[in-house]
Amino acid sequence: MSWGIGSEQKRKDIKELMDIASRIMQENPNHVNEVAKSNNDCWMEQMYLMQRCDFCDLSPDCPTREEQEWQDYLKKNNIVIEK
Ligand SMILES: [Zn+2]
Repeated sequence: MSWGIGSEQKRKDIKELMDIASRIMQENPNHVNEVAKSNNDCWMEQMYLMQRCDFCDLSPDCPTREEQEWQDYLKKNNIVIEK
């Protein structure tokens, strides 16, 4: 029973994302190869020029998302890293 309002919204967001993606690909079929690497290596930002790291779970190696999860982990476990 996990199909609440949240996932309904996420389905809508994904649909919207697909529309944006197909529009980008229509304008430039080589977008994936030609797009400049984003500053933060975020997959979403690179592909779609938007910061939606909640969608980076589609891409397992987004460093921005990994950093976020790492920080959450540290906070949850009260770990302080000396810099
Ligand atoms: Zn990201």
